[in-house]
Amino acid sequence: MISKKFSAPRGTADILPEETVLWQSLENQARQQLSLYGYQEIRTPVFEETGLFARSIGQTSDVVQKQMLTLASQNTTVDQGKELSGLTLRPEGTAAVVRAYIEHRLDTKESLTKLFYISPMFRGERPQKGRLRQFHQIGVEVLGPQTASAYLDAEVIVLAVNLLNSFGIKDFQLKINTLGTREDKCNLAGILRQQLTSEIKNCCPDCQQRYERNVFRILDCKNHSCKAVVARLKLDGSHLSPASQKYFQELCDTLKLLNVTFTVDTKIVRGLDYYTHTVFELTSPSLGSQDALGAGGRYNNLVEDLGGPAADAVGFALGVERMILARPEHQKVAMPAADVFFIVPDEANLNEAARLLEETRRAGIAGDMSYQTASLKSQMRQANKKGAAFALIFGGDEFSRGTATLKDMKEGEQQEVVLNQIVATLLAKLPSRR
Ligand code: AMP
Repeated sequence: MISKKFSAPRGTADILPEETVLWQSLENQARQQLSLYGYQEIRTPVFEETGLFARSIGQTSDVVQKQMLTLASQNTTVDQGKELSGLTLRPEGTAAVVRAYIEHRLDTKESLTKLFYISPMFRGERPQKGRLRQFHQIGVEVLGPQTASAYLDAEVIVLAVNLLNSFGIKDFQLKINTLGTREDKCNLAGILRQQLTSEIKNCCPDCQQRYERNVFRILDCKNHSCKAVVARLKLDGSHLSPASQKYFQELCDTLKLLNVTFTVDTKIVRGLDYYTHTVFELTSPSLGSQDALGAGGRYNNLVEDLGGPAADAVGFALGVERMILARPEHQKVAMPAADVFFIVPDEANLNEAARLLEETRRAGIAGDMSYQTASLKSQMRQANKKGAAFALIFGGDEFSRGTATLKDMKEGEQQEVVLNQIVATLLAKLPSRR
């Protein structure tokens, strides 16, 4: 019988060791940057009640309408009397963080809560380059009662820009816009419908439905004829109240003060319902059609809408896979190398070598061996492949004298070392391990 060969599900990717080093370096840089700005990590479950996403992201958003990966087998499950129906793999981080903020009353612990996550997200999209069903985001959320401030928005934007810079990504663009308050957003929807009245017939069938249900989404449609219609729209910020205009002006002024290059694009509205005031997008032309590296904005009503206290909030999410695609090619990250590789051509010496290898590891030295009694030559090849700084050769003659040969793989120098001095000798030669 030919057994079926399994492969990773469509739209997902295995991240193999030579890539994980890149991921780790990116994550480490992110953690460093995030701690400079005072953010702390939050880890929420990978699935949540479906209703959480429908209520926060919006029933009419693309994510909720088309991309939710809902766990079918949960429909009838009952756990400790509590029905587990309607669980969905999280398509984004904000809703879950807000749920946790409310559930744990984080508003009572700190006046301003700065959280970050580095997590997988799941969307049932049609996979293509840069668009996966399981992808990863580095995101931040800043929440607190009465904390809306253009300065904070600017700081969050600067953080996103600095993260991209720290990953070596240079050719990106920052576009910002403001939606204003909820009332301003209603005005904007009215202006859009009015300008689209005579044009909507030229739009795709999806957008014709969006006209009534969620007119903002027409601005994000990728269809050519819709794009042409959107290009003719004239949006000048007239939907904004004087206070909202002032807020946005302060944001622009602060970004200039902080030396951030940006353009104002009045057609950025973001597909998710919860945004108010500031919205922004970071794009890279090197990414082709899926050019968004990340996006974010302010959402001052969401915490209260989900049953929490009145709290303002702002955040963003950067896509890790896209950042890796946009990183310069030459920035390869080396695999971690072994400090020492034990070479044991003679099986009789294996026990003692294994005991010493464990001793070196307990002393904090990265040691490895071949586990097979292959020839000296082939074991030396393996030591080279592992990038080992030293090889320790347990040759027969030396071993009978209670010694082994330590070879510096770079310099080629060799010395005989007494077996019980091996750890001390290696530590002396490896300053970083002391
Ligand atoms: P969004 O919430 O859709 O604006 O997503 C924020 C960022 O996550 C985007 O700018 C992308 O970098 C990334 N992203 C979103 N969806 C996907 C996906 N299906 N595959 C890979 N990356 C994605």
